[in-house]
Amino acid sequence: MESDVHPSTTAVTAGRPPRIPDNPVNTPIVPASTFHAEGSIEYAREGNPTATAFEEALGALEHGHATVFSSGMAAANAILDLIPHGATVIAPINTYTGVAVRLKELAERAFINLVLLPVHDTQRILAALPKADYLWLESPTNPMLDVADVEICLTAAKANKVISVVDNTFATPVAQRPLTMGADYVLHSVTKILSGHSDLLMGAVITSDPQLTDQIHIRRILLGAMPSAFDCYLALRGLRTLYLRYEKSESNARAIVERLRGDSRVSRVRYPDWGTIAAIEVVGNADLVCRSTNIWTYATSLGGVESLLERRRRWPLESETVPENLIRLSLGIEHPDDLWADLDSALNKA
Ligand SMILES: *Cc1c(COP(=O)(O)O)cnc(C)c1O
Repeated sequence: MESDVHPSTTAVTAGRPPRIPDNPVNTPIVPASTFHAEGSIEYAREGNPTATAFEEALGALEHGHATVFSSGMAAANAILDLIPHGATVIAPINTYTGVAVRLKELAERAFINLVLLPVHDTQRILAALPKADYLWLESPTNPMLDVADVEICLTAAKANKVISVVDNTFATPVAQRPLTMGADYVLHSVTKILSGHSDLLMGAVITSDPQLTDQIHIRRILLGAMPSAFDCYLALRGLRTLYLRYEKSESNARAIVERLRGDSRVSRVRYPDWGTIAAIEVVGNADLVCRSTNIWTYATSLGGVESLLERRRRWPLESETVPENLIRLSLGIEHPDDLWADLDSALNKA
């Protein structure tokens, strides 16, 4: 039934309790470390009914089986933990900071051979695939907004028997469903757009091959990275409005980017013309821009209903390829005229 309806309907209907009189319409928060024996859960690192409800909804949206983790990094590390010693891994030069640092750590310990390539340079990725074992994609990238030709790269990866991972945090299943294009693993920081309210940390891995799903589930049990039932409840509540929030945030992003393009206070606008995140390189003092807003919040992270901005290079671990004056803009659901007036005045002060 789910597959016959629009995905924005699935976001609302999936992961509900059975329609039995007096059953709750929403899956309750089930705080439990242990469950009566001989069932399908048994112990809370193996699962939780509130987590299962969220996993059903996200799995339906991504066309696979979702496994939740206590953060996006915990989910990423579960995938990294399955990479065999000596594997050659292609990854984007500009991938999410935490993932980039972990990949470099593994390479420095000679556990993997790391091949870093610009994710938008399809020809170089295709040329590197015959000698690779893994392809790690992130598209659009955080915070540079580089976009990969995901379908071409995944098709070629499959043809070369290369295992593929797509970090789909920025695109979300609203814009991109990598499993339908042949990806082996889809990764999410649920913390961001999927949950959408900046009130929890959570990650997820979505797979369609039952063997990979099993392996990822076992990683969660052994790494011990299970989110709380309360966070799963909040995340599912946030996921119900994913399509509404995404559409509004995307239209805000377009409205703000349109005004920024050609503005002499900004030397570059990075925006793929879709999605809810943009980045600007400012001519004036970028820190001062971040400190001068009243509606936009100066804070890290992204994907919430409130608009956030941040100069990424203030973080010591951020890649040196990210310009010092780059400010990441995460568009929320406020009125675009108010967002523009606030940003406009902050740019004037810097
Ligand atoms: C935030 C983020 C992560 C890490 O997720 P956490 O929930 O912060 O651990 C991974 N990938 C991308 C693209 C992100 O933006």
